[in-house]
Amino acid sequence: MSTAQKSLLVQGFEVVIGFETHAQLSTQSKIFSRAPTAFGAEPNTQACPVDLALPGTLPVMNVGAVERAIKLGLALGSHIAERSVFARKNYFYPDLPKGYQISQFEIPVVQGGEVSFFLGDEKKTVRLVRAHLEEDAGKSLHEDFVGMSGIDLNRAGTPLLEIVTEPDMRSSAEAVAYAKELHKIVTWIGICDGNMQEGSFRCDANVSVRKPGEPLGTRREIKNLNSFKFMQQAMDYEIRWQIEQIEDGNEIQQATVLFNPDTGETRAMRTKEDAADYRYFPDPDLPPLVIGRDWVEQVKSEMPELPRVMAARFEVDYGLSEYDATQLTQSVALASYFEAATKVCNQPKLVSNWLGGEVSRRLNQDELSIEVCPVKHDQLGLLVSRIADGTLSNNAAKQVFDVLWAEGDITQGNIIRVNMNETMGAVDRVDAIIEAKGLKQMNDTGALEKIVLDVIAANPKNVDEFKAGNAKALNALVGQIMKASAGKANPAQVNELLKKALA
Ligand code: ADP
Ligand code: MG
Repeated sequence: MSTAQKSLLVQGFEVVIGFETHAQLSTQSKIFSRAPTAFGAEPNTQACPVDLALPGTLPVMNVGAVERAIKLGLALGSHIAERSVFARKNYFYPDLPKGYQISQFEIPVVQGGEVSFFLGDEKKTVRLVRAHLEEDAGKSLHEDFVGMSGIDLNRAGTPLLEIVTEPDMRSSAEAVAYAKELHKIVTWIGICDGNMQEGSFRCDANVSVRKPGEPLGTRREIKNLNSFKFMQQAMDYEIRWQIEQIEDGNEIQQATVLFNPDTGETRAMRTKEDAADYRYFPDPDLPPLVIGRDWVEQVKSEMPELPRVMAARFEVDYGLSEYDATQLTQSVALASYFEAATKVCNQPKLVSNWLGGEVSRRLNQDELSIEVCPVKHDQLGLLVSRIADGTLSNNAAKQVFDVLWAEGDITQGNIIRVNMNETMGAVDRVDAIIEAKGLKQMNDTGALEKIVLDVIAANPKNVDEFKAGNAKALNALVGQIMKASAGKANPAQVNELLKKALA
């Protein structure tokens, strides 16, 4: 076992996690009916006879849902089944009027594939088992004030893609990073709006622990995690709880559990059903789903450049590290911003450093996204070229950046892919601010040389110390020179001139 793996053990236990994610597909209408899928409508205003399971109705497959499944398969390198089958998953619940959910069981539409991402600077790959199409159920609304529960069937029949991983993850942090990557991909390719508060992307975390080298332990499945923060908290609680149980000599019972964000605890909801309990069988109302290769090719030709392909291109075209390229391709918006800013200054590494540093720090602080970044891509591009050509020190550039940030407009959107060449920011503000604040770095060697000689003449003690071998004495002199130049001298140049003068 490698040291990296060893260090992951929690109190001598290895954590094993597999994820099942429900991504709500962004179709206008439901998976087997024409009722709309819009979120937040008055209860039961978006449920048609098919969704209500009225006698005599039949499901009709929504092509848009299938197309989105194909897109996911293409994005994750999966096999897209030429023929897959819909099955009935039978159970009773008030929000399920048919008495069964239409899902896929033995032959899902998307098979295999993988998701790769960075955990810190370590690259991880999680294998997928499958992704299958299914319909969502309705919602029970518990109206305590009248002591009754109501059923809202607006959500019944909403298209879902359930994406299932192998039990490949070995820590809660890795599982959260996987979920973030998957979220990035489904929104990037536009098959899901990714809105977690509205339940468009919800994860079930299957968690078990074992002593290293032992077979897989018994898992408990934490249902419906719809925030990355809760995901992490729920898994961490669950891991500690399972280890405690085992150390107390108890056996883990397979179960479905819910996370309570208020207490930070997970609690068993029911003992886990097995597949057999659902009496799956092929749905006689729906023919097998046949996907011709020409359709797959058609969808492929319409796919956007994928994040990992774009990242590989960034490495080659811009000479960036794999890590930087991956960071820059976290969203379409960030990647477009980077490319547009780089176009202005031709300094990809510097732009990348600014985006990963000051820009993201300020965005986080102000809780803004790059789409509405107050400093526009062309302004950052010009700012970076002023650093590259020696006009600005890093410190001075930060001051200009702060002014741009403060006066920037966050209601004005930033570039998106289609209008990347369009100028969005008042780019001449960059030079105007440099001028107004007198931030231009001193590049006049003659003037700087004079300051250097003056400072040497005025500080004989430091000069003697330096000549006696005290390297630190040089810093005192550099400090004096920077001060005399009102901070405008280029520190590297100062060092060079000083050493020359003292040699
Ligand atoms: P089911 O369909 O009954 O939920 P699956 O066998 O399809 O069961 O597994 C569901 C999820 O649980 C998958 O993501 C899988 O990787 C994960 N899983 C299976 N066994 C374990 C285990 N021992 N520990 C953690 N996760 C597991
Ligand atoms: Mg399951």
